[in-house]
Amino acid sequence: MTLLHDDSTSVLTTTDPRDGSPIASYPVASADDVRRTVDRAREAGTWWAGLSYSERRRVLIAFKAAIARDAKALAATIARETGKPEGDALLEVMLTLGHLDWAAKNAEPVLKRRKVKAGLVNYNQHATLGYVPYGVVGVIGPWNYPFYTPMGSISYALAAGNAVVFKPSELTPGTAVWVAERWREVCDRPVLQVVTGGRATGADLVRAGVDKVAFTGSTASAKKVMAACSETLTPLVAECGGKDALIVATDADLDAAADFIAFGALGNAGQTCVGVERVYVEQRVRDALVDKVVERAKRIVVTGDAPTYGPMTLATQADVVSTHVQDALARGGRAVFGGPESVADRTVSPIVLVDVPEDSDAVQRETFGPTVVINAVADLDEAVARANATEYGLGAAVFTKDAKKGERIAAQLRAGVVTINSVLGFAAIGALPFGGVKGSGFGRIHGADGLREFSVPKSIARQTRKAALNLLTLERSPKDMHMVERMIPMLHGKAR
Ligand code: NAD
Repeated sequence: MTLLHDDSTSVLTTTDPRDGSPIASYPVASADDVRRTVDRAREAGTWWAGLSYSERRRVLIAFKAAIARDAKALAATIARETGKPEGDALLEVMLTLGHLDWAAKNAEPVLKRRKVKAGLVNYNQHATLGYVPYGVVGVIGPWNYPFYTPMGSISYALAAGNAVVFKPSELTPGTAVWVAERWREVCDRPVLQVVTGGRATGADLVRAGVDKVAFTGSTASAKKVMAACSETLTPLVAECGGKDALIVATDADLDAAADFIAFGALGNAGQTCVGVERVYVEQRVRDALVDKVVERAKRIVVTGDAPTYGPMTLATQADVVSTHVQDALARGGRAVFGGPESVADRTVSPIVLVDVPEDSDAVQRETFGPTVVINAVADLDEAVARANATEYGLGAAVFTKDAKKGERIAAQLRAGVVTINSVLGFAAIGALPFGGVKGSGFGRIHGADGLREFSVPKSIARQTRKAALNLLTLERSPKDMHMVERMIPMLHGKAR
């Protein structure tokens, strides 16, 4: 990707990471362009919010169908912009449409106004809770899953009745533009619009008067976005980086664990926010597990017509991988498969490291490449302590045949999503909210919480009759206050 400035306008040109060939050029939206887009969205959003749940659902399902009918074209666009194999891109499309479907069909049951209990003392109040849209949500997306990731915000924000202005990664604008074209086929109002550009355009979107920002990207960028949001007290959902740990107990199915480690750590060239970056295995099965992971890494093909995964989408990410591997080795870690030489320009072959000191970059910082650190631990308590000892808390996994033990470990892991005996098992489950803790961010996409994330709870208490005990007055009677004195210990005085 290059950002070029000519005399009249700024453009960004995307390139195919597989061979460096140019793909297409897109305008770099100026601050004024972004503001005008948000203004248009606000008007369209008022119309959209005024539709009934079933009317919105109909449009969203038509949107989904329009994408699904041309899924292969979308997958080809994703593959071209990211360099990932088309099969991976097609899976990304399928996963994403599952969430769009869930959001469209569950917005009404989750968000529609409902009666809530007012309580004995408030017997004269009819209390209801409803959820109203924010208005315009600004969505800022990354490049690693350029459809799945931002659509996690877009689908749920639209289903909750918001208009969306989406600023995709500067590496993957074509995917976003393709999706916006499908929207225009099913809806003639600009409820979903795309602005293309780099970081500055993202920063302009945050300051363009949007009512909420949904940011997905690195923790470092999220901090800048949050600082900008603080100027206007604009609420933010931040989906950031991760350093996911996977724990393997002695009683685990080691073949299954090795399969999932290979998939979770090396698939998509390791460019997965919830990818496996660290493995903590109980000492007794450590050698067997390492052998099995290496066996699988050996079968990975990174060149030719049908590679297991593609090159690094962001060229400079290969340097990060290289730096982390060299740091790990310099501090006493060992490479049992691959090594610094595996980083060949932007194509990185698998690297399996063991015995890497816990304070090294390869353990503490997001590597986002096809590498994995496997460290032995004395027991599962040590595994949990180490797993929790980074600034991140996005995903985590545990492998054991003992269901109770798995649930206990899952409860101890400080992460937003945990899988037992799989990795990424939550990704396709519409009902499960997704998001992190600590440096991995806050707020949730997906599930009922994802719908509520893009809604404002609005409470209404309707007085249905005059209260026998009239306390909401400036002229309370001594009789009523005497009653209050008696009621307090009656209602709240018992410690149970
Ligand atoms: P990035 O932070 O460089 O950029 C993400 C997006 O933010 C891009 O669209 C970029 O233009 C924009 N941006 C950057 N600085 C900005 C600013 N100051 N103001 C407004 N917008 C700004 O991240 P990336 O390299 O595109 O993506 C990789 C990162 O995303 C990794 O850390 C990965 O873990 C994370 N990620 C997280 C999730 C999740 O759901 N938690 C999902 C996918 C990726």
